[in-house]
Amino acid sequence: MALIVQKYGGTSVGSPERIKNVARRVASWRAKGHQVVVVVSAMSGETNRLIALAREVQAQPAPRELDVLAATGEQVTIGLLSMALMDIGVKARSYTGGQVRVLTDSAFTKARIVSIDEGNIRRDLNEGHVVVVAGFQGVDEAGSITTLGRGGSDTSAVAIAAALKADECQIYTDVDGVYTTDPRIVPEARRLETITFEEMLEMASLGSKVLQIRSVEFAGKYKVKLRVLSSLEELGKEGPGTLITFEEDIKMEQPTISGIAFNRDEAKLTVLGVPDRPGIAYQILGPVAESNIDVDMIIQNVGHDGSTDFSFTVPRGEFAKAMAILEQIKSHIGAREITGDNKITKVSIVGVGMRSHVGIASKMFRTLAEEGINIRMISTSEIKISVVIDEKYLELAVRVLHKAFDLDQVPA
Ligand code: ADP
Ligand code: ASP
Ligand code: MG
Repeated sequence: MALIVQKYGGTSVGSPERIKNVARRVASWRAKGHQVVVVVSAMSGETNRLIALAREVQAQPAPRELDVLAATGEQVTIGLLSMALMDIGVKARSYTGGQVRVLTDSAFTKARIVSIDEGNIRRDLNEGHVVVVAGFQGVDEAGSITTLGRGGSDTSAVAIAAALKADECQIYTDVDGVYTTDPRIVPEARRLETITFEEMLEMASLGSKVLQIRSVEFAGKYKVKLRVLSSLEELGKEGPGTLITFEEDIKMEQPTISGIAFNRDEAKLTVLGVPDRPGIAYQILGPVAESNIDVDMIIQNVGHDGSTDFSFTVPRGEFAKAMAILEQIKSHIGAREITGDNKITKVSIVGVGMRSHVGIASKMFRTLAEEGINIRMISTSEIKISVVIDEKYLELAVRVLHKAFDLDQVPA
């Protein structure tokens, strides 16, 4: 008998019929003698609907109240799934995040989990219940409802699996595993049997929304066995999905590149003609950081005649705010001009195999050059290379890179 935590995403619980399917899948795991905790998302589209509703009432919704509202999506699903389980003779009990006591900090709309009281869940499991928990939400010390950021149900599931020391955490979604790239963009994308935590962490942080990045961080930190699977496959005919592994578990020779991630949520700002002197980066980025804007890539050009250009990227939603800050400090820092572009995108190739291979970057750049795609910025780490390009080339870039690195071929 194993203790399994399963998470079902929005599409998987998107209609009463799908919720009944989830109940049947959960029942099949129970029938094999396993204890099951189910973490669910809101029905697909619901969180977006709730946020849009809030914006109709208040242009910049108050974060605490937005969380009260957004958390209702998951509360609907736990009720419905518990009923569906009972309807087929499975004992079930639902909990909101606050009822479990998923304690978080008070950073509304992007709260972090501090601790999980697993007492209620354990007691119910021991009494033979399936425990159904609302993902995406928690409660802070003051008792206010919090949410964990978009896609946060993944993190709820992995954190609960860690707290319970579960044997496996299964993320059921609308694709049957982690692919070499988003299969919606490249139909030739292949499901990976395994991917290392490090690679998954990069893929998630570079834009692959199949897992929320914090869920991968949790899994790595607490060594949770994590698997991505499809909830849409016929019961009894499911594939193995993708197992996230620790690198030392992998015996086979790694391919150089494991996957391609992309992020449309990027905008670039450039400060032209600033004096090339110590402290200039701080003078530009200090005010941006103080406004809580996340800066991603940064480049400073080689100076000419005592002046230089400085570019950086921010999330698209923060573009206008960042531009306004730069316009404000422009004369103070002695800049000639401020320019911006919010039609850019970041494409990244990821793979632990890069460590032991040379020429990966040049192959990436050549592949893009052959298609006439101009690279605007570059950043690298040990296991990834990211480039910023014009948004209009995104799909082309991902497709040609996927082919150039043989990601459509099953590794020998
Ligand atoms: P859920 O609602 O189940 O949490 P998400 O929409 O958050 O599902 O994540 C699943 C989606 O992630 C897929 O439908 C797919 O389009 C997208 N995706 C992006 N990159 C990848 C990838 N490398 N492998 C698989 N899916 C990916
Ligand atoms: N319902 C939340 C969202 O749409 C959380 C999740 O689905 O993981 O972001
Ligand atoms: Mg998701």
